[in-house]
Amino acid sequence: MKIIWEYISARAKYALPPKRVISLIILLLGLFHTCFLALFAFFSIRPMVILSMGGVLFYVFCYTQAKKSRRLPRLFNLCYAEILLYAAAAELLMGAESGFTVYMTAMLPLGYYASYNFNSKKGAVNPISYTFFAAIAFIIVQMAGSFIEPACSFGDQRVDHVICLVNYLVAAIVITLFLSSFLNQIKILENLRMNQNQKLEELSRLDSLTGLSNRRCIQEKCAQAERQRQEYALIIADIDDFKKINDTYGHNIGDKALQAVASIFKNAVRDEDTVCRWGGEEILIFLPGCPLDKARYRAKDILNQIRALDLRAQDQTVFHITMTFGVSVSGESENFAEALRKADERLYTGKRSGKNQVV
Ligand code: GH3
Ligand code: MG
Ligand code: MG
Repeated sequence: MKIIWEYISARAKYALPPKRVISLIILLLGLFHTCFLALFAFFSIRPMVILSMGGVLFYVFCYTQAKKSRRLPRLFNLCYAEILLYAAAAELLMGAESGFTVYMTAMLPLGYYASYNFNSKKGAVNPISYTFFAAIAFIIVQMAGSFIEPACSFGDQRVDHVICLVNYLVAAIVITLFLSSFLNQIKILENLRMNQNQKLEELSRLDSLTGLSNRRCIQEKCAQAERQRQEYALIIADIDDFKKINDTYGHNIGDKALQAVASIFKNAVRDEDTVCRWGGEEILIFLPGCPLDKARYRAKDILNQIRALDLRAQDQTVFHITMTFGVSVSGESENFAEALRKADERLYTGKRSGKNQVV
């Protein structure tokens, strides 16, 4: 009941799998048939008691099958057919005043649910086919009803009216319940898709080894800063003699060193800065609104942390690395490409003049 209420009130967080939905539908239909069984037993209308009893047994069987996840679309179709047959038989036996054909209309949204959820190899189920069968059944019952005299009755016209009213009410509840839960399912799936897209978007901006942003992300940020004529600083850093690290300790240890370096960079910058893995072991930081002296100070601080970083080889011996930094600001260049070229030139000046420094 809780699940049903969550769906109606659009508060459900997860879309129920078809197995759960079919089980719930079968449970509800079984419950309806039990109510009818009690009603007809009360008025001693034997043909309807037998019909309702058959219905209850049918839904008990369907429920056990649904629990085992056996052929859900087929089970669904069987239930749909049962409702049409039950409504037709009840209308013909009890007369048009009983209003049982209203269930044929109430079942129409179920066809759309099936079409949305059951995709066979041949393609999606056409909801029109469900509507078509319901319409045919409705027309046949209406036509037959004008030739056949009802065999049973509640014995009181007022009871007939009340039962008809109850049938209309139940049908209206079924339609509302089903359409709102269907809408809820679509909303949940839509939210899920939006979250997944957001995650994919975030992943497409991240480097998988270091968790740093990738080139695309920083290029977008710089382009935005240029459009808004915002000042920024760039720091480009490259690990010194990294080939030797790989050769001496192996590529795996090299990767771990790269991850440790990346985490120092991530923790050393402000929230508004972006750290990106620019190339193999080259890291680029974009610092919006940061003047040259502050950027230089930040680079020196990072270099000190890198120097102090204890890295461990396979045999647990500790080794250290250093990095060389080139810093530039947007004020001294025309655009991002030129600012980056300037920072890069300074980095290589640092490499040529002994590495392990900020230029
Ligand atoms: P320099 O001081 O001049 O920078 O010397 P270097 O040996 O670091 O030279 P360079 O920057 O050209 O070398 C980059 C090396 O980094 C080459 C490559 O083997 C290594 N490298 C690049 N990407 C990765 C990576 O993802 N993992 C590991 N383990 N090594 C990488
Ligand atoms: Mg290097
Ligand atoms: Mg390099």
